[in-house]
Amino acid sequence: MTAETYDVVVIGGGPGGSTTATLTAKRGHRVLLLEQDKFPRYQIGESLLPATVHGICKLLGLDRQLREAGFPVKNGGTFRWGTNPEPWTFSFAVSPRLAGSTSFAYQVERMKFDQILLDGARASGVEVRESCTVVDVSSAADRVDGVSYLDASGRRQLVTARYVVDASGHRGRTYRHVGGERQYSEYFKNLALFGYFEGGKRLPEPNSGNILSAAFDDGWFWYIPLRPDLTSVGAVVHHDAAHKIQGDPERAFQRLIGACPLIKDYLGDAKRVSHGPYAQMRVRKDYSYCNTRFWRPGMVLVGDAACFVDPVFSSGVHLATYSGLLAARSINSHLAGTVDEASAFGEFERRYRREYGVFYEFLISFYGMQASEQSYFWKAKEVTNCPLSEFEAFVELVGGLASGEARLADPEATARRLSASADSLADTVSRPSGIAGELHANAVVANAMAEGVKLQAQGLLGQAADGETPLFPDGLVPGQDGLHWIRPR
Ligand SMILES: Cc1cc2nc3c(=O)[nH]c(=O)nc-3n(C[C@H](O)[C@H](O)[C@H](O)COP(=O)(O)OP(=O)(O)OC[C@H]3O[C@@H](n4cnc5c(N)ncnc54)[C@H](O)[C@@H]3O)c2cc1C
Repeated sequence: MTAETYDVVVIGGGPGGSTTATLTAKRGHRVLLLEQDKFPRYQIGESLLPATVHGICKLLGLDRQLREAGFPVKNGGTFRWGTNPEPWTFSFAVSPRLAGSTSFAYQVERMKFDQILLDGARASGVEVRESCTVVDVSSAADRVDGVSYLDASGRRQLVTARYVVDASGHRGRTYRHVGGERQYSEYFKNLALFGYFEGGKRLPEPNSGNILSAAFDDGWFWYIPLRPDLTSVGAVVHHDAAHKIQGDPERAFQRLIGACPLIKDYLGDAKRVSHGPYAQMRVRKDYSYCNTRFWRPGMVLVGDAACFVDPVFSSGVHLATYSGLLAARSINSHLAGTVDEASAFGEFERRYRREYGVFYEFLISFYGMQASEQSYFWKAKEVTNCPLSEFEAFVELVGGLASGEARLADPEATARRLSASADSLADTVSRPSGIAGELHANAVVANAMAEGVKLQAQGLLGQAADGETPLFPDGLVPGQDGLHWIRPR
């Protein structure tokens, strides 16, 4: 059987795969993207962050398409969380420099959003083949050099490539070819049960497009406005409460809604969608994990294929597209012969783990500020002041030691910092603050958003806005177009 030859082959046409494919094709490489489904296909993950919209999508050249899609504008998040009985809001205006022009994101139907990104890849010269399932990854002389896949008619095909990008999401199994193992988080062991409603109340303006997150005894709900007449609703419960979602999912869902007065009120006049892709109730479990390796010569993992952390702060698509950008920079630099492979992908891995680690920490702080003593769920989550072993696991998980970041290498210091972050968030939130309880740039939120703000600036200014300071000693910085790495002078 003869193999086709490409510079890059990408497994999966979600946000991570489309981003990597587009940003390598834009540098003139021959790129093939293989997607097992026929788009549009359903996916969860509808609430975006500004960095994706104004940073990555601008780099992808898709800002106009996103604007024209008419997605609801999300100015921030509204939470009924912590000891404050009233909902409070934080807005994305974390950087005064960017406030206004890019301090919003969108709530998206993924069937539409992912289609826009995949069409954008095609328009950038990527060869996209749908209904093609990658079944194996090949290697020679210790280097990955291609894949085999089943095409739409079930025939096996071979492709050789200088790089294989695994963006096959949480269900793909090809990630195993980089070696290492997938470690599931001890902290975020949750299950989600979710469905869609016609109708449902909206938050008062200007926050009608915000995600509403409401904590209750067994966990928390997301409530995402997708269209004036369509709302995405999901319950996230700790796996110790899994028995509560056994049996008929529809009845279990109604019981959980009944246990959360705010969501029950918002859904008062709403009806479950009864036809089409939104009619089904869906369950996801054990969805926070991180692989111990993110790349090996010739192959790199992006998005959920590499890691995922709890959805409370809507970081999934951000991490998928951000890692896609980092991987594209590394591939572009190595194929151009300007940076050696180990340095290029070392930079990719350190930056990706760091960003994942920031969200992981932020989320622990966020869960840690919930202080409802009676709640079984929250008691199970009290690891903010927990024995060292949790944090040793945490440090290992985020690869802090491997990344050389001293601030992650001391478990006790990490525990103190997380505890202080949770207190600081709780303190800001409980302070009386205006009619809508508007919370702007709390230091903890700002820290979590820092890399995103840089990406937004880059999208806005059209060039790398890193200040050309490496993030790590001996590290690389993005080149002028943001699509490759250079060594700082
Ligand atoms: C309960 C829950 C709620 C979430 N909410 C949010 C949210 O509000 N906001 C947010 O940003 N994120 C959210 N996420 C996360 C989000 O779903 C993911 O992080 C995001 O979709 C990852 O993008 P990706 O491109 O890595 O993978 P995916 O979007 O999963 O895309 C992977 C693609 O690869 C294809 N594929 C798989 N195997 C193969 C193969 N062998 N060959 C060819 N193709 C293959 C799949 O068909 C798929 O299209 C949530 C996740 C969960 C579990």
